[in-house]
Amino acid sequence: MIRIAFYDTKPYDRVWFDKLKQAYGFEFKYYENKLNRDTAVLASGCDAVVAFVNDAIDAGTVAALYDNGIRVVAMRAAGYNNIDFKAAWGKIHILRVPAYSPYAVAEHAMALLLTLNRKIHHAYNRTREFNFSINGLTGFDLHGKTAGVIGTGKIGQVFIDICKGFGMRVVAYDPFPNPNVDVEYVTLKQLCRYSDVISLHCPLTKDTYHVIDEQTIAQMKRGVILINTSRGALIKSDALLEGIKSGKLGGAGLDVYEEESDLFFEDFSNTIMQDDILARLITMPNVIVTSHQAFLTDEALKNIAHTTLENLKAYFDDEPLYNEICYQCSKQKTCDKSHQKRCF
Ligand code: NAD
Repeated sequence: MIRIAFYDTKPYDRVWFDKLKQAYGFEFKYYENKLNRDTAVLASGCDAVVAFVNDAIDAGTVAALYDNGIRVVAMRAAGYNNIDFKAAWGKIHILRVPAYSPYAVAEHAMALLLTLNRKIHHAYNRTREFNFSINGLTGFDLHGKTAGVIGTGKIGQVFIDICKGFGMRVVAYDPFPNPNVDVEYVTLKQLCRYSDVISLHCPLTKDTYHVIDEQTIAQMKRGVILINTSRGALIKSDALLEGIKSGKLGGAGLDVYEEESDLFFEDFSNTIMQDDILARLITMPNVIVTSHQAFLTDEALKNIAHTTLENLKAYFDDEPLYNEICYQCSKQKTCDKSHQKRCF
């Protein structure tokens, strides 16, 4: 029986994997620990690892997994910025779930925007204490305002459609514009200048690291609402805090945070928060933080479990690995995937 070690698992992760398990004949070992070079040993005796977004799959972890006989890691996620692909190449196949529900993430982005703009978080707290005053709860019509979308891939496109449904004008920035997307592409600078709302839907790469910093914030309209459901390090956190404090930013809806990996998905309600920037952001009346939950819908969890298990089945059945990814995928001379159906 093929044994699979799951890292960083919570009860909601297990629901669909357990429901689908029978059909694949795999045996699962669930660990709450995050994957790193110290916990890699937990996978010994297993044939594969399933990992998540805040697992640290660096060179040390890759070496430790390899020493423990692991040759395949299936990410139960779309993003893969937490992996050292150069270290993994030739040793461990990395599989992922490229799409599971762009609707889940795009709808959460809009939920953050609507909550911030219409101050639902304040209204909820007030009415629970029978405070029915609406002073200070004024928002603005989204209709007729401009949304700037950074990254027009699967999630960005759904968010564009949602914004259009609200009667918004939408402009977008993407270095690889998609001719099939009905949107007005502009430069990043123009997007900052035109937008009343900016939503990030690009991956975290060397090029997008801190794409929102003091300089880009300075180019934005006063009062702009910033939404980030992509990756925390797209935004330079101290620049964001200054932007909020100065009033340049009218609000921020954050489902991800630069330093989230040791915090998100865990309960720290009885401890002293050591991250001063996050603590200060959370005190702001116009900042909403959710803990990387944009993906968390039943449909998304089902699709994640299904694709992850299909990826692993393909690996063990020696079938093509369409959802494999490596750092050479764009260089067809060195990555074998286009002719061998596997990266190496
Ligand atoms: P995708 O690959 O379909 O689209 C990404 C888009 O970003 C592409 O169009 C690409 O051309 C564009 N892009 C690349 N470099 C860029 C740059 N420098 N500036 C602007 N755009 C750039 O990905 P997707 O499925 O739409 O997901 C987007 C991101 O959402 C993922 O990378 C992941 O980080 C994040 N995500 C978050 C959650 C969550 O729960 N919060 C869940 C899933 C995905």
